[in-house]
Amino acid sequence: MTAGPAGTPIVPAEIRCAGFQGTTLIDFPDRVAAIVFVPGCNLRCPYCHNGALFEVADEDLMPPEALWEEIERRRDFIEGVVITGGEPSLHPELGAFARALRERGREVKLDTNGLDPAFVRTMLPFLSCVAVDLKTTPERYHLLGTRAGACDLRERLRATKEILSAAQCAVEYRVTMYPGVVDGVETLEAMMALVPANAIVYLQQFVPNHAWSDEAQKTPPFSAAVIREMAGELRRRTGRDGIYVRDYS
Ligand code: SF4
Repeated sequence: MTAGPAGTPIVPAEIRCAGFQGTTLIDFPDRVAAIVFVPGCNLRCPYCHNGALFEVADEDLMPPEALWEEIERRRDFIEGVVITGGEPSLHPELGAFARALRERGREVKLDTNGLDPAFVRTMLPFLSCVAVDLKTTPERYHLLGTRAGACDLRERLRATKEILSAAQCAVEYRVTMYPGVVDGVETLEAMMALVPANAIVYLQQFVPNHAWSDEAQKTPPFSAAVIREMAGELRRRTGRDGIYVRDYS
């Protein structure tokens, strides 16, 4: 652990920080926050904008002391810290980091793909908000570069759903509307079986610019109007009111 000014441990020495953004007004609902990016991911979503985080050399990581200093320098105006990636669940040391942040009065939001329910369970007591990126139906996850089988993936996502069903914090599920991976209301309806009732759902438009794969850069996104139409139909079919659209056009 790295000691803070008051001698309180805050950043585990083993934390692997691949990037830090000092301030965000949009990534933590209703909070001014900093963002910590961790390296590595167990998926390869074609549309991912963080491809640079898939492989990060040790010498390019931010030293824990520097991370702590950056967070502390902003202590008068940062209310929270977003932990994102990459995929945070590859980093069990984040539990100690989240605990330390909470003990020092910072709120914590976690972004995850939800494939490691044990990690979600460990982090949950320290979270004010968790955002799960649900990609598609388990049968289609192979399109995202995983070799895990559909049954295994379904069980993991179901377990995450059960854990978050009892969460006291805000729960968001996000679906990136990437044609071919999520291609219609039937797919979305099947996915909703893996979303807890207490979650708000965002259908977010896929943005080809900055995607790491050539394939995604050449794929036209669904229009905002089409996504809104799907959202309306999904609300009707599932009876869920909390389904919203994020579009970037
Ligand atoms: S979008 Fe998220 S889950 Fe998919 S490859 Fe990128 S970091 Fe991993």
